[in-house]
Amino acid sequence: MKKIIFATHNQGKIKEIREILAPLGFEILSSDDLDLPDIEETGTTFEENAKLKAVSIATLKGIPCLADDSGLCVDCLNGRPGVYSARYAPNRDFKKAIEMLLEEMKASHSSSRFAHFSCVIVLAYPDGHCIPFSGRVDGQIALTPQGSSGFGFDPIFIPDGYQQTFAELGAEIKNKISHRGRALNQLIDYISQKGL
Ligand code: IMP
Repeated sequence: MKKIIFATHNQGKIKEIREILAPLGFEILSSDDLDLPDIEETGTTFEENAKLKAVSIATLKGIPCLADDSGLCVDCLNGRPGVYSARYAPNRDFKKAIEMLLEEMKASHSSSRFAHFSCVIVLAYPDGHCIPFSGRVDGQIALTPQGSSGFGFDPIFIPDGYQQTFAELGAEIKNKISHRGRALNQLIDYISQKGL
């Protein structure tokens, strides 16, 4: 079975990625499986950060590596937290991050609740060359958190065309329409045509 690394310590993300990439039939190793170091996200764009992580790990381990960088961009906060989403709340506390975001939106005095999730996934090879894939989902921020599936800001994100949050809609719907699902589907098309 072909091996590929997905460089993340986020258990919520790796679960989604394994589900979506199942059709490729690869063994998907996480950063925890390989005891990999956390790569600092020093870039200012999703693509820079994803590339940084994927290239460092692919060259370190000699195995093709995927890494993503993703985040929630809220219109009335001028696109924040964006690339800083993971570091928005202390200790990556998702419950606290939601509370802080709702407070910040209230303080902005804007009636706009428009937001989108963005994701860039980079496939890197041990020789350092890499290919980016991106995805986006538009929606609105709910007034209060609802639902318990998923991770991060899922309980407050209502995707366009739906009345419920990602955390209420569940994995099957989320994976079809999410920013990460869309980027991963492009990756699947690419690998299906060109191989790994
Ligand atoms: P990173 O891509 O690991 O830097 O983290 C992205 C951060 O953005 C996460 O910690 C979440 O706060 C948020 N985020 C990214 N994708 C999602 C998602 O699918 N659902 C909910 N929150 C997300």
